[in-house]
Amino acid sequence: MSDATQYMVWIDQDLCTGDGICEEIAPDVFVARDDGLWVVKEEASHFDTTTVFDGAEGDGHGPEGSRGVARIPSSLIEDTIEAAEECPGECIMIEPYNADDVANRGA
Ligand code: SF4
Repeated sequence: MSDATQYMVWIDQDLCTGDGICEEIAPDVFVARDDGLWVVKEEASHFDTTTVFDGAEGDGHGPEGSRGVARIPSSLIEDTIEAAEECPGECIMIEPYNADDVANRGA
C-alpha cells in the first residue's frame, strides 16, 4: 500500500470477539464500546476532531452507526493492517476510499 493511497477501516460487529487486541495495537484507530464490542474512530490528533463510529448520535459520533467507516491516518496504516492480521474474529476490514465520498458523508 503506497502512502498516496487513502484507506478506511470498519469492523464487522457480528464477528468481533471483544478481546481488544486491535486497540492494543492501534489505540488511535480502535476503541471499546460499552457493550464489549470494538468500534473504529478518528482521533483528533490525526484529524480535526475525534469521531467515534459507535452507533451513538450527536457530536463526536460518526454516521452509519457501528458499521461506519473511519479514515486511517497514513502514519497508522501499518499498525491497522497488523491489527487486522492479529484480529481473531477476522472482522477488521480495510479498504481504499474515495476522499470525495467521505467528505460528503455528513459527519
Ligand atoms: S481484534 Fe477483532 S475481534 Fe478483537 S476486539 Fe478488535 S475487532 Fe473485535
